[in-house]
Amino acid sequence: MSVILPGGKRIASRKRCSECKRVRPLEKFHRASTGYFQSYCRDCKAVRQARWLKKNPKKFLKIQRRYFAKLKRLGVKRVCDAKKKASPVPETQ
Ligand SMILES: [Zn+2]
Repeated sequence: MSVILPGGKRIASRKRCSECKRVRPLEKFHRASTGYFQSYCRDCKAVRQARWLKKNPKKFLKIQRRYFAKLKRLGVKRVCDAKKKASPVPETQ
């Protein structure tokens, strides 16, 4: 099985995480709205995120506030609606 990237390039359904160096199935990786997969697996991403949050709590608040202000401006009431509108994640098959 393989996955097609936006440029029409086919990639294998497994990918090596650049953090833990494990080769994992693509379901273990987040896919950006551009269609490309992130270089860290979901587990490593969560760890990195938690580490970053601990280091930058103020920055996180600022980003969140800006994000919610943007949602308000766009007239979005629920965050999941905004996500659906902003980044439709294409099927991997
Ligand atoms: Zn990993």
